[in-house]
Amino acid sequence: MKLIEYVSVNKTIKCISGVHIGASKDNIEIGGIDLPIIKHPLTGMPYIPGSSLKGKIRSLLELKYSSRTQQTGDPCGCGDCKICKGFGAHRNSRSPLGPTRFIFRDSELTTEWKEKLISLQISKGTPTEIKHENTINRMNGIAKDPRPNERIPSGTELDFSVTIRVFDGDKKEELIALLDEGMKLLEQDYIGGAGSRGSGQIKFV
Ligand SMILES: [Zn+2]
Repeated sequence: MKLIEYVSVNKTIKCISGVHIGASKDNIEIGGIDLPIIKHPLTGMPYIPGSSLKGKIRSLLELKYSSRTQQTGDPCGCGDCKICKGFGAHRNSRSPLGPTRFIFRDSELTTEWKEKLISLQISKGTPTEIKHENTINRMNGIAKDPRPNERIPSGTELDFSVTIRVFDGDKKEELIALLDEGMKLLEQDYIGGAGSRGSGQIKFV
């Protein structure tokens, strides 16, 4: 299998709503936020991991195209479809498709938004939004159990980049079209957590 070229797809992710990509609970300080988001360990700035973007885009394409996923709920590993080709055949080491074609990079803040969130951190003590969510008592309508939910603030922009490996025999346009379709599905869906209640709406610009 001969590597022909690399194609770069570069966009900007604009957060239309706040975005919550959860971090491990291991990193919570006592008295800290219940539901913290993932941040760069050195800069403390939020980002969206490439794994989150890849996993979500893949899952939406599978819900549309993979009968295996539609039956089992698992990622496709048939080794025979365009999703397995682009994203890798899930747990199928005998797939004849060769290497995964899509390489998703982590999405870091754009230079402009890094500066904005640094000033937010200086003025408010955090580069993020802390949104409180409640449960409503069904009998008296009173909100209870407030949980602080951390989010990348709406309006924030991050760099998005995918490199496509094009091998001998691949149709480059089909790979680009598959990625493009997945990105359009994601714009109509959400990335990260709390998506059914307002979080995670993004746009590729
Ligand atoms: Zn497949």
